This record gives sequence, C-alpha cells and structure tokens, in this order.
Amino acid sequence: MTGSVADRLDDVRKRMRDAALRAGRSPDAASLMLVTKTVGAARVQQALDAGQHSLGENKVQEGRAKARELAGQPVRWSMIGHLQTNKVRDVLEFAGEVQSLDRLRLASALDRRLQHLGRGLDILVQVNTSGEPTKYGLAPEDVPAFLAELPAFSSLRVRGFMTLARFTSDQDEMRRCFRLLRAIRDRARQDAPQGAALETLSMGMSGDYEIAIEEGATVVRVGQAVFGARPLPDTHYWPETRRPAPRA
Ligand SMILES: *Cc1c(COP(=O)(O)O)cnc(C)c1O
Repeated sequence: MTGSVADRLDDVRKRMRDAALRAGRSPDAASLMLVTKTVGAARVQQALDAGQHSLGENKVQEGRAKARELAGQPVRWSMIGHLQTNKVRDVLEFAGEVQSLDRLRLASALDRRLQHLGRGLDILVQVNTSGEPTKYGLAPEDVPAFLAELPAFSSLRVRGFMTLARFTSDQDEMRRCFRLLRAIRDRARQDAPQGAALETLSMGMSGDYEIAIEEGATVVRVGQAVFGARPLPDTHYWPETRRPAPRA
C-alpha cells in the first residue's frame, strides 16, 4: 500500500462520505474509529497528527501499553475485542468505551469496578449477526432480554450495538449482517428500557466499511485500509475464522 498515513486517512474519509451520500445520508453520518492493533505508537502518532482522535484496540495489554505511550494527547480509546472479566481493571485504565459487551457477568464486573472508580463507561452490545459459532457476541434473539437486565448496572451507558459481518467476499451476505444489526437497533429503540439512547451502530471494517455505511453504520472500525496489512493473521484475533483481504 502506498501513500502516507495521512493520505490514506483522507482517502478512507472520502470513501465514507461518498458511501453515505450514495445511501441518501448526511456525508458525516458515520465516524471513523481507527483500529491500531499491531501498529506502533510512532505510526499511530501520524494519524493523531492528521486529526484522528478515536482509536480502537482488540487486546487489553496492547491497548494499555499504547495508551501509556501516547498519554497526554487528545485520544479516545475503545475496546473492541473479546474482554475477559479478569482484565476489567486494566481496560478501564485506558478505555472510555467498550464495544464488546456480550454477557452479564462482564457487565457486572465492569459496573463493580466503575462504581469503585466513581465513573461511567460508554457501552455497545456486541451481536453475532453472522451466526458463525466462532464469533463472539449475543445471538440476535437474546438481545431484548439482555438489554432488559442492563439498567441494574448504573455506571454503564448503553449506546447501541457492534457487530462483525461474516468474513466473505459475498456482498449480499455482508449486507444481511449489517441490516440485521440495524433492525435489532431500531426495534430496541422502541422496546428496550434504554430506548432512544440506543443510536450507535458500529459495523464495517477495511473490507466492508462502505457497505456498512450504506446500511446505516454510525461508526466504522478501520485498520488495514490505513496502516496496511497486518503481520499477524486474523486467527490471532478471531480463532478459526478466515477473511478476505481488504479492498485496495
Ligand atoms: C481488527 C479489527 C477491526 C479492523 O479490521 P481491519 O481489517 O484492520 O480494518 C475491526 N473490528 C475489530 C473487532 C477488530 O478486531
């Protein structure tokens, strides 16, 4: 991949605007979260210098270490990977948002620590829209009952939903995943106790973010389209899954 980090960020942002306009949405309807896993702090700094402030990490230890290296800068970190309850303390050292809430035990562990710290946390509920058994996230049919339990954890500000589409080059199948998440959100806005606060749809990655925006994403999580291909295979992050290379 050629061009500076700043150039590629510009290109992604332009494609995001174009996708939104194609779908009849406002050009800034979706915002960009830059996924920095495996990328060193010096290269992340280039993105910060280019005006990017929202960053995402998949693993707690890597995120915490990078956040320390970049301390003092206007960065908002999100945790987007599977989170173990024994990592709650560490994740709250750097993250202002967790997008991967998928079970009540984790909600309880987060809330307990947050109450102790006297602060809140933005939360997205992760949904498994592809039905692949190797993906984390709630089954779509379990979402309403899950949402009904969350008001008990008063430090969690539940803002919406996150998903990973099926890893496929079949665009219809990707769209189906994104549409399903949007339908879950629209329904929850009417029926769930959190109601209208459930606005966010975090969906779309380097290979499919334009499709996700066409289908209503309000946040896309993009890494490789800006930083180039990762050295580690994605099986390191999602056991036993394979995905196509991002579109150039
Ligand atoms: C790595 C990752 C992304 C971004 O993937 P790219 O292919 O780098 O765009 C998005 N979401 C999650 C949960 C990730 O772990």
